[in-house]
Amino acid sequence: MTRAALENTPRVNLRFGSSPVHRLDRLTEHLGGKVALWAKREDVNSGLAFGGNKTRKLEYLAADAINQGCDTLVSIGGVQSNHTRQVAAVAAKLGLRAVLVQEHWVDWDEVNYEKTGNILLSRILGGDVRLDPAGFDIGFRKSWEEAIASVEERGGKPYPIPAGASDHELGGHGFAGWAFEVEDQEKELGVTFDNVIVCSVTGSTQGGMIAGFAHSDRASTVLGIDASATVEKTWEQIARIARRTATGIELGREVRDDEIVLLDRWHDGIYGIAGPRTIEAIELAARMDGMITDPVYEGKSMAAMIDLVREGYFPEGSNVLYAHLGGQPAMNGYTTAFSY
Ligand SMILES: *Cc1c(COP(=O)(O)O)cnc(C)c1O
Repeated sequence: MTRAALENTPRVNLRFGSSPVHRLDRLTEHLGGKVALWAKREDVNSGLAFGGNKTRKLEYLAADAINQGCDTLVSIGGVQSNHTRQVAAVAAKLGLRAVLVQEHWVDWDEVNYEKTGNILLSRILGGDVRLDPAGFDIGFRKSWEEAIASVEERGGKPYPIPAGASDHELGGHGFAGWAFEVEDQEKELGVTFDNVIVCSVTGSTQGGMIAGFAHSDRASTVLGIDASATVEKTWEQIARIARRTATGIELGREVRDDEIVLLDRWHDGIYGIAGPRTIEAIELAARMDGMITDPVYEGKSMAAMIDLVREGYFPEGSNVLYAHLGGQPAMNGYTTAFSY
């Protein structure tokens, strides 16, 4: 029932179709050649302002916003949020407005941090960008509620989207669909992926994957790599979203705790800032396969995959799928992390 239930949920198409899957040939060889590394590329999933994982999630929330007759998407994130940039792009595409609360989630002292990268794109896209001094938190925020109220005061109809489009009834649907898409691509490629590596912060990317893969009893092969550095809170949120999504897509059983795997060794102790191991992983993936990963999210999950291969975590002959969730536009705010 799960696939049919998902297909019956209203969705607007914002992507090119299935995201591409390919081998990381040189990284595979560099790390000994015994574990085949692959990537599935949400970073090139859409023509909407560089796409990414939030575009896939927003297909369901945008359909809901339109069905409810809302005219303004209201959301929240850090200054260099990929999510708010994607909300701005989706709003533009659908002829809606976007109000974006950008909080001080990261103490990164670089002159153009509040002007370049994602926040620049959000402004170009016509988003009503509102800077706020509050610090990192994946939960619900007062500034966000004020932004919602401000839309109502001017007679608009807001559609509230929480951080990362995650803690929302429809937040996990996009990546439940990703799991089914992977299973279709496995058949086409003649490959079965033994593990998926995915970065987790607000939780609905992994939570959705868990709900989708639970259908074929392989949810525990999804290795979440925490980049929030608030690991317990993130685990709880992933669990809540996985369970809510499982109900939404009519999985027909409970998601068990052991199906929710969140590894905590690669967050570098803080959200939004890369340690030396993350920088090294970013450079290695770039220099081996020309694939760019960012210092906030994808570089951390890349570091995890590299370390796990080196540690012999994956048995010889395994196929490992790296979920590339996007995030490259933030690079422009992090030039000083790469000092050459
Ligand atoms: C938002 C984001 C993540 C984390 O996904 P969640 O669903 O918030 O856990 C990872 N990588 C990139 C590039 C992101 O923008």
